[in-house]
Amino acid sequence: MTDTSLYRSLPSVDRLLSEEGVMDLAQTYGHELVASCLRFLLDEARVEIKARHALPSWTSDWTGALCKKLKERTHASLRPVFNLTGVVLHTNLGRACQAEAAIEAVTRAMREAVTLEYDLGQGKRGHRDAVVSELLREITGAEAACVVNNNAAAVLLMFAAMADGKEAIASRGELIEIGGSFRIPDVMRQAGCRLIEVGTTNRTHLCDYQNAINENTALLVKVHTSNYRIEGFTAAVSEAELAVLGRETGIPVASDLGSGALVDLSVYDLVAESMPQQMLRDGVGLVSFSGDKLLGGPQAGIVVGRADHIQRLQTHPLKRALRCDKMTIAALEATLRLYLRADQLPQSLPTLRYLTRKPQAIKTQADQLLPLCQALFGAQFIVRSEACFSQIGSGSLPLNTLPSWSLTFMARDGRGRTLESLSEYWHTLEKPIIGRIADNKLWLDLRCVDDDKALAQALRDAVPPMVSSP
Ligand SMILES: *Cc1c(COP(=O)(O)O)cnc(C)c1O
Repeated sequence: MTDTSLYRSLPSVDRLLSEEGVMDLAQTYGHELVASCLRFLLDEARVEIKARHALPSWTSDWTGALCKKLKERTHASLRPVFNLTGVVLHTNLGRACQAEAAIEAVTRAMREAVTLEYDLGQGKRGHRDAVVSELLREITGAEAACVVNNNAAAVLLMFAAMADGKEAIASRGELIEIGGSFRIPDVMRQAGCRLIEVGTTNRTHLCDYQNAINENTALLVKVHTSNYRIEGFTAAVSEAELAVLGRETGIPVASDLGSGALVDLSVYDLVAESMPQQMLRDGVGLVSFSGDKLLGGPQAGIVVGRADHIQRLQTHPLKRALRCDKMTIAALEATLRLYLRADQLPQSLPTLRYLTRKPQAIKTQADQLLPLCQALFGAQFIVRSEACFSQIGSGSLPLNTLPSWSLTFMARDGRGRTLESLSEYWHTLEKPIIGRIADNKLWLDLRCVDDDKALAQALRDAVPPMVSSP
């Protein structure tokens, strides 16, 4: 057939719309969307004719092709996945999974009017940070607190409110970059303050800060180097030492803590993380940390500290631009309330539940799923139950790993491509399964699996077409 006759053989949108199967789809998805998808498919067919001088194979089943396209178009892009990467706080997968109490609080706040900035006692305008400030004071011992969109915003606000047009002193060993182009020197520039770098990459002493202080100094800064560690011949000034210098000179001290655990993680046999409570006791004026890292709540940036400093943050014009919405506040309040029952936290807070799971329990889970996986995937893959290490994630030290357990898949043909196509196929599932390829194997770390049955069901539907099911 010539191209011209091929083009002519394509049906019109109107003719397709009058077909029974298409009419049914129009009932479900609406006329507009169906017509738009049909036009899209016709364009695709024309492109194919031009390139290959033939009709694409799917033109033999317009209804089928339309159905597929409609599903693609209407599928939510933000989808739940099985996080089997072994990274508990995976930034690309939304960090902390929320506690049930937080989920309920957010749902209520979304559906109904809430007392976000309404003081019921006074019947007048209240402050949106009031609810969480009270809890944060109780938990951390701070005089006051301020909540913004994320910790990056909290750091920006601290610098802007405390040192705009002035100098802020920070150690060269702490000028961090974290993912997504957040660099301390850039943030300071945006905040309008001048960074005075002191010390060297590996060693900074108290006298370095002392010598840099002048009449323009407005802030002494500590940054938690969460995602790397300098080892060997090193020296750093502690928050406590810097706080003493701050007191002597009358210059406020601010600390960007990054993760900031609100409970002592060593109680759970985890590596102890710096806690805001301790820094405040040490005399640091402002401490900032994330809501969705070790705290296990929603994305938020929290600053706790001295009432007069917090007041400067609250009244700075940037605060209005960086403030949290009611959903964040609702989730954060509910999460913080769980900290008042700290004994129940490892059950009530998913992040802590995942971090504290015993490798033996995860192994049992893997061993139970193993026979099913071997039956389903055995033709093409050698499936095993193997020890591995999980990571906390979100800028917690990559070196702090947690012993865990995985199902591993090794391609019988030994080709990396086979492994990659399995992983890619799992990404196309209704609820994608996300593992990790390392050492020529695809690893499914079961640390973050709450529902074995749901995973087993997902795996039953996860056999790629090239593999025949048993
Ligand atoms: C994670 C982190 C940030 C940024 O926090 P977000 O909540 O992701 O904005 C800033 N500083 C440090 C030290 C961090 O670890």
